[in-house]
Amino acid sequence: MNKTWITVIRIAFFGIFLFLMLIGKPFIWLALYGLSLILALFFGRIYCGFMCPINTVMGPAEFLSKKMSIQTDKTPKWLSSGVFAWIFLALSIALMLIFKKALKIDLPIIPIWIAVGFLVTLRYKPHVFHNLICPFGTLQGIFGRKPLFSKKVDKETCIGCRLCEKACPSDAIKVSSETKKATITPNICHQCTNCKDVCPKGSILYNNAKQ
Ligand code: SF4
Ligand code: SF4
Repeated sequence: MNKTWITVIRIAFFGIFLFLMLIGKPFIWLALYGLSLILALFFGRIYCGFMCPINTVMGPAEFLSKKMSIQTDKTPKWLSSGVFAWIFLALSIALMLIFKKALKIDLPIIPIWIAVGFLVTLRYKPHVFHNLICPFGTLQGIFGRKPLFSKKVDKETCIGCRLCEKACPSDAIKVSSETKKATITPNICHQCTNCKDVCPKGSILYNNAKQ
């Protein structure tokens, strides 16, 4: 699937998301997210790669960040352990339940995280939000830990050029300095096509992870 099609799919899902928010049915989107967790067992984190409205608005945020030269390669130290992603997940669930039970209000949790994702990506590389903050991504990572189908690197043809590393939004592909071969970590891979698109040797494949 080429980049244009992925953009069309992303915009279509973003439109569906906006429509559901406007008609006051955010729980339909959350149900879709729940379904995507089951799909992640088989096909990996396709929600993150194709559907997530947070990820969709992070694209323009990264563009602006680069344009204004305010993007940094650094990761805030306090986030680097990954613990805060779990705290944000627990906090999101707790706040949704409290607002619903005590105040009879549906907390707009996804729009809140869209705003956070946008602001964080104005300053930091996308993988900081994807891997260390996003509560939705944290759950996707559990279900997409060992998907049946996933992106894989053909070690025979990989030349270790690192182009895929630079193109990956979630820091999921790394080239070993010893073997000079790339390897993908499935639980943080969004199953997008960025690495595949730039690989000069056609070494990135999407197939049965057990093969
Ligand atoms: S872009 Fe392709 S050849 Fe280059 S390191 Fe990545 S997988 Fe290997
Ligand atoms: S490893 Fe490739 S498919 Fe996975 S998130 Fe990175 S660029 Fe996308």
